[in-house]
Amino acid sequence: MTESPVATEKWAASVPGYAPDGLMACHACDGVHRIVPVPERAKALCRRCGSLLYRNMPRSLDHSTALYLAVFILFLLANTFPFVALQYGDRVEQSLLISGGWALQRAGMEELGLLVLLTSVVFPFLTMCGMLYLLLPLRFGVRPPWMTPVWKMVRALTPWSLIGVFMLGLLVSVVKLQDLAAIIPGVAFYAFIGLLVVSAAAVASFDPAVLWPRMGPVVESDALSASADSAAAMGYAACHACDLLVRRPAGGARWVCPRCGSAVHGMRIADSLSRTWGLLTAAVLLLVPANLFPVMTVTRFGQGEPSTILSGVVHLVEDGAWPLGLLVFFASFIVPIRKIAALVYLLVTVQRGSPRRLRDRTLLYRVTEAVGAWSMIDIFLVGILVALVRMDGLAVVYPGIGATFFGAAVVLTMMAAHAFDPRLVWDRAGSRA
Ligand SMILES: [Zn+2]
Ligand SMILES: [Zn+2]
Repeated sequence: MTESPVATEKWAASVPGYAPDGLMACHACDGVHRIVPVPERAKALCRRCGSLLYRNMPRSLDHSTALYLAVFILFLLANTFPFVALQYGDRVEQSLLISGGWALQRAGMEELGLLVLLTSVVFPFLTMCGMLYLLLPLRFGVRPPWMTPVWKMVRALTPWSLIGVFMLGLLVSVVKLQDLAAIIPGVAFYAFIGLLVVSAAAVASFDPAVLWPRMGPVVESDALSASADSAAAMGYAACHACDLLVRRPAGGARWVCPRCGSAVHGMRIADSLSRTWGLLTAAVLLLVPANLFPVMTVTRFGQGEPSTILSGVVHLVEDGAWPLGLLVFFASFIVPIRKIAALVYLLVTVQRGSPRRLRDRTLLYRVTEAVGAWSMIDIFLVGILVALVRMDGLAVVYPGIGATFFGAAVVLTMMAAHAFDPRLVWDRAGSRA
């Protein structure tokens, strides 16, 4: 933890229930830390693994409330006005943002359409509504009811809200369409670009301490003797919903968080290792047909040939759009393979109880979890092209079965990364399991 001599009393006072001697556990390695004030805008990092523990953002509530309101308005604009129009001669076809999901459903790819609809529209919408539900009353000093279930929903849906990835898929599809028709961006297109920027700012300005002050149990200092102590070794566990450190109750009583009422799990994510292995195996099996079968067929004047993920990349490069070709190649081919290799390496080293390169392995996990969603770019690309290009007789794009396999494989690798508990890297270090 970066301890600072500058004690910001103001910040400490602004956090209700702040306990200067409280403890917290690192979410990545379970290392226990004493909460100390840090200067404004400064970060406190985990002493063991280097993960972010917390930041001091004194005006987080004001800023994030305003930014989430702006996100909400931009989202409504982006979804009600025409997104892009395709002009081919004197024919103009307009599309709404959500038509990507619908078009896939109409084309008989219900599961894939649902995946696109959920990750590009429904989950981002539920996430921003949940945040506003929590932030707006708090901004006016009122604690909203059902704070715990709403916050749990926001936490669960955030990794599956993929607006940024959708935007990149749109960019690639615009390049792919350039020689087919003129593309006229609509009001929603500009609203969507604004939405991307503002939602990134909203996420960055939000400090969870606004909802759940960073107080922890106050423990005598000799309980913190060994620097490598994990919360589990000390008989504590962090609440999954609000991160409060909760002591295991005596005599087998139910372990419940006193602050938010959630059940506390002393164990690591149940069966983390076997679940991660299972999900990874299924993902590897699905990646084979995903790369063999076509993901889409572009027909012009009634004829065309199906393209797979890799042949789509080759087409982009041949058209001179090699930066985008490289991007799609990286996102749809390198990222899934690299992700599977990284998780297998983490699983094997945890099972062997390897004590080496603990920090590097924690960082590897963080990167793996963060980049995984970018593989969805090809799925969004197919959805957008199928929705936009539907000029019968001139040009039509049909989705291919390879896209469904690929979508399932990406979802499974994302689930595998979530199922893996990075704290096991530290728990098992030096112990042969
Ligand atoms: Zn840590
Ligand atoms: Zn809690």
